Amino acid sequence: MERTAVLEQFDVDKVREDFPILTRTVNGKPLVYLDNGATTQKPKQVIDAIVNYYTQLNSNVHRGVHHLSQIATDAFEATRRKLRPFIKAAHEHEIILTKGTTESINLVASCYGKAFVKTGDEIIISAMEHHSNIVPWQILCEERGAVLHVVPINDAGELDMDAYRSLLNERTKMVAITYVSNALGTINPVKEIIALAHDAGASVLLDAAQAIQHLSIDVQALDVDFLAFSGHKMYGPTGIGVLYGKEKWLNAMPPYQSGGEMIKEVAFAQTTYNDLPFKFEAGTPNIEAGICLAHAIDYISALGLDNIAAYEHDLLEYATQQLLTIPSLRVVGTAREKSSVISFLLDGAHPYDVGVILDKLGIAVRTGHHCTQPLMDRFCIPGTVRASIALYNTKEDIDTLVAGVQRAAAMLL
Ligand code: PMP
Repeated sequence: MERTAVLEQFDVDKVREDFPILTRTVNGKPLVYLDNGATTQKPKQVIDAIVNYYTQLNSNVHRGVHHLSQIATDAFEATRRKLRPFIKAAHEHEIILTKGTTESINLVASCYGKAFVKTGDEIIISAMEHHSNIVPWQILCEERGAVLHVVPINDAGELDMDAYRSLLNERTKMVAITYVSNALGTINPVKEIIALAHDAGASVLLDAAQAIQHLSIDVQALDVDFLAFSGHKMYGPTGIGVLYGKEKWLNAMPPYQSGGEMIKEVAFAQTTYNDLPFKFEAGTPNIEAGICLAHAIDYISALGLDNIAAYEHDLLEYATQQLLTIPSLRVVGTAREKSSVISFLLDGAHPYDVGVILDKLGIAVRTGHHCTQPLMDRFCIPGTVRASIALYNTKEDIDTLVAGVQRAAAMLL
């Protein structure tokens, strides 16, 4: 469909009716929620599913023969079944349910690291990574005597692909890169990144925490080895996330945590591990969140990720244009390919002070380093003000934000 036709058909008023929290006030003003990169609000379809879980299904999964345990297990596994086509994985058992992106990345760093990374091997990350995609690799490198390399970025916040090419070599074991930068909005050329890594014999983990809710992802077309994302950033509950991994790697990796669920048989002499995906799912999972994530996937799928992306992109362009009319405002992150995140600074004002004034006006934005301290160091700034746009935001939200920033500029500068 033509972009203009998509925009005309996207009924944001109807969408907003699904999100009860959007009708509340904050500090006496209607809430304008622009902190979606941190977490998204939840539609009533997800909230109702949570209530339904505790009133109709609550029971432990994968254990009991009794009715409740069986229907809870079916509902939990239905999410895995739904996730497979959502990311176009080849097999359901390649989908591991975790606590979130952070746990998914830690799992790969720990288990892939144990299986495949030796002294002198190399890991590549980028200058725009979230701390969750830096620290696990630092720890792995320290433990294994491996070397961490960082792909630099240009002033627009785009990866230096020539530098990336020159870092790759036969010692590179893993390239761990964010699909979309949470602080800058940059969409990285992941297909090319993956192909180059594979040519060098390295695996790739994509941090899709900021991509999964904006872009349709096909893990097989990308040929990515691992993909990590969180439910709470895609209109689902907190405490649930996903690790997709190619079967061949997951089978070759040792378990992450141990205990119940991840075993086939336990004897004091020896324990055998369960098959995928359960080998990586020790202990009682977050059952409620696991079940209700399916409703978030349904919600996104009904609207269509391409339609969502077109609508959000239109708002991003509008927001960028409008914010740039403020003379002292500077946008940080001006990549050609951008998702709906806009980070900015008012020259002469601390981002925190801008955030406090916006909060008084009922506008929720994120201020600070966004868990990307090395990135802030790269730009020689303490942090930014970040507005991150979701499918329920409107041009009126953007107008309110712009008026708020103008007010902050008048008060602070
Ligand atoms: N990576 C990126 C790019 C993120 O934006 C975030 C969340 N801000 C994370 C990782 C961590 O996600 P979670 O806290 O849900 O584990």
